[in-house]
Amino acid sequence: MCAGCGKRFAKAALVRFTVRETAVGRELVLAAGGNMQGVPGRGGYVCPDPECLDRALARKSLLRRLKATGESPELREEFARLIEARQ
Ligand SMILES: [Zn+2]
Repeated sequence: MCAGCGKRFAKAALVRFTVRETAVGRELVLAAGGNMQGVPGRGGYVCPDPECLDRALARKSLLRRLKATGESPELREEFARLIEARQ
């Protein structure tokens, strides 16, 4: 389910997020390749729409789900690159 719009999608259509432990906290990042590969544990998903990422970040639903303390400063840019590459 997309954390932005709440609609259901096939997992392959969604972009997956995970967290990275850093010196300052738990940072929300794209999971490797934005998909399921190689990342154990909980995941958060957003459909490939930048507005949904913005909504999910504004609502903090992704942060809460993954117990993240903030998002990576490059997150929006990486998301945009990923969905562009998929088209
Ligand atoms: Zn969505």
